[in-house]
Amino acid sequence: MKLVIDETRCKGCNLCVLVCPYRIFKEGTELNDRGIVTPVLDRPERCTNCRLQPLYGRLLCGVCQMICPDQAIAWVDERPFEPHKVEVEF
Ligand code: SF4
Ligand code: SF4
Repeated sequence: MKLVIDETRCKGCNLCVLVCPYRIFKEGTELNDRGIVTPVLDRPERCTNCRLQPLYGRLLCGVCQMICPDQAIAWVDERPFEPHKVEVEF
């Protein structure tokens, strides 16, 4: 699973920065198209949900999602690896 911030919803309150035990969210530095500084993700693959949600079949930590006032945090499926589409060029 892949952690994403929906930039169309996030208002840059940085509550997620405060609560994540792995410090995956960091305060951003650049304004987006809406004039909001949204957090940036630091190695989001470390997130408990990213790593273990497929194994357990449910959300595990989710503190950031619970505290986000704008429902801007979600996990999306990553496209599975498709070995038959890999082409090696020599
Ligand atoms: S689910 Fe937990 S570990 Fe993952 S980003 Fe949110 S607060 Fe951090
Ligand atoms: S808690 Fe939600 S709205 Fe606030 S900065 Fe994080 S993602 Fe954006």
